[in-house]
Amino acid sequence: MSKKFYITTPIYYVNARPHIGHAYTTIACDAVARRQRMLGSDTFFLTGTDEHGQKIERATQGTGKTPQHFADEVSGEFRALWDRMGLTYDDFIRTTSERHKEGVQALWRKIRENGYIYKGSYSGQYCVFDELYVDAVGPGAPCPECGRPTETVREENYFFKLSAFQDKLLELYASKPEFIRPETRRNEVVSFVRSGLRDLSISRSTFKWGIPVPDDPGHVIYVWMDALSNYITALGYGSSDTRKFEKYWPADLQMIGKEIVRFHCVYWPAFLMAAGLPLPNAIVAHGWLLFEENKMSKSRGNIVRAETILDAMGSDALRYFLLREVVFGQDGSFSFDALVQRYNADLANGLGNLASRTLTMISRYFRGEVPYPSGTAARKPADHEIAQVAQRTISDYTALVDQYQFSRALESAWTLVAAVNKYIVENEPWTLGEQPDELSRSRLGTILYTSAEALRIITALVHAIIPDSTARIWAQLGLGDIRKFPLAELQWGQLKLSTKLGNVEPVFPRADKTTIERMQAMEEQQRPGTVSDGKQDAAVATQAQPASPALQTAAPPVPKAGAAAADGKITIDDFAKVELRVGQVKVAERVKGADKLLRLEVDIGTETRQVLAGIAEAYAPEMLIGRKVVIVANLAPRKLRGLESNGMIVAASLEGDKPVLCSFLEDVPVGARLK
Ligand SMILES: [Zn+2]
Repeated sequence: MSKKFYITTPIYYVNARPHIGHAYTTIACDAVARRQRMLGSDTFFLTGTDEHGQKIERATQGTGKTPQHFADEVSGEFRALWDRMGLTYDDFIRTTSERHKEGVQALWRKIRENGYIYKGSYSGQYCVFDELYVDAVGPGAPCPECGRPTETVREENYFFKLSAFQDKLLELYASKPEFIRPETRRNEVVSFVRSGLRDLSISRSTFKWGIPVPDDPGHVIYVWMDALSNYITALGYGSSDTRKFEKYWPADLQMIGKEIVRFHCVYWPAFLMAAGLPLPNAIVAHGWLLFEENKMSKSRGNIVRAETILDAMGSDALRYFLLREVVFGQDGSFSFDALVQRYNADLANGLGNLASRTLTMISRYFRGEVPYPSGTAARKPADHEIAQVAQRTISDYTALVDQYQFSRALESAWTLVAAVNKYIVENEPWTLGEQPDELSRSRLGTILYTSAEALRIITALVHAIIPDSTARIWAQLGLGDIRKFPLAELQWGQLKLSTKLGNVEPVFPRADKTTIERMQAMEEQQRPGTVSDGKQDAAVATQAQPASPALQTAAPPVPKAGAAAADGKITIDDFAKVELRVGQVKVAERVKGADKLLRLEVDIGTETRQVLAGIAEAYAPEMLIGRKVVIVANLAPRKLRGLESNGMIVAASLEGDKPVLCSFLEDVPVGARLK
């Protein structure tokens, strides 16, 4: 029987659409899963979506959509993107599915039976954003986690006896140092648990969008308990068919982002211990993907979509970049420039060049059949050296990738790429190819065999990282289906003589400046009102600037050249430059440290914009959800309190009085333009 390997991504919360931050985690897991399959493990790779909670319930209020409807839509987008990227997950779990609900309730019953759940009451501050009770004093006090204002709640709740697990958890971290990686995260968790664990409230009665507590349907189960359980409910825990659960649990690797370490390394093992279930073998936390120095997130509005990169450069380019450029465990940064540079240097010029020269010369000089190298004694030191570098690369790469050090593993594989490219240049096989004598021909055979064998080894090693292009190179080497290659047996000298090459064609076309421009244009097309000068378009803005009674739209700078009439009037063409659109508020919240400012997320039909508006004194955030507003859509973006504002909300501004939002008496569709 082969060894089993169970790997999970975190399940993604449907309050945000998928972006390359989500893709990063899922790609890393996909690379591990593909490698395990090549090593012969019976692999099970799970991903999915987290769909309950007050945040989702609130986001749909006033939108005419039910939370389920909303969750269906976003969950479908995640799944469609993963499919388009060719990710090889074996199951996709949704927390709104019946099988999950059944499993979560079974887990609850088990923990209750074991005496770790009791009813108590809680009164204090609650952060809706984090779905967390927090230590803060008084209504509106900022959440210590995220800085958003908290709400006072008084509820009767069920509690989990987390305090009973403090010593057991510390024992776990001490006896199994591999349980949490990297070490910085482990140290954080240990000091958090050492500082004392209080019992955890695990039910809510103030909203409905969740899984009912067994035998007390007035309560729903805490979202984190609900979400974490997915790792076992997907395997059939608590159902009538537990064969997968028995086969695959405990997980071999649970990969997460560093912001959810506490939930996975404290609460999750405690829940499992309380239920008498085995613990996962390893929880590995990666860092954040930064864009312009900020974590990519919906609230910051600095999201890059994976689709743009897939359209322009294909999925291997994105996979290679993320796993090579970001040191796993640490934060990494993304930019289109860095993506194209890395692609050209390592893939087009590095591996691509190696493959195309080697395979083209074998086609030309040996009628497409792998040539015979000369006997060992007749080989030169340079030939032996390549064989040695290749053997060393196999062991270095394997050791690093087994520690999930993708970036360093790839670096080691590319030392072999560089060594072989240098070997080819120094030995000039193309010159030998023009010599008719036997000696030259024999030397040429050795050089091309050596190059092709090194190419085969690199291709097999990095297949899990860049599956599409390596599958093509493998087929060009005449070796068939790369997924069937037994990776554990990889070593120098396995390339058979006279192997007939497949059709030789380039695998990594060079990217140029227009590739970057194309990707930028694609991102811009996602927004209306793209300006033609190629600058970061549209957008932005918003802060209400109380002026004289007037609509606050106005005042895009009027071009000096000609247009403006002398008396301060503008022409119809000038007015047409202002793009006014109907938007609908999806999210509204106060901005920490700014009394007048609200941060809004406004749907303008084609996209959702983050807009900051100086209307906090006139409108409570919750009054705005679902409300239709007028937005200046093509205002240049600007930053307020460190947040980017992408557009401006139009309001009447009355001297000494509070702003009044512009609205419509008749119903108007979201995205409609005002003229
Ligand atoms: Zn918070």
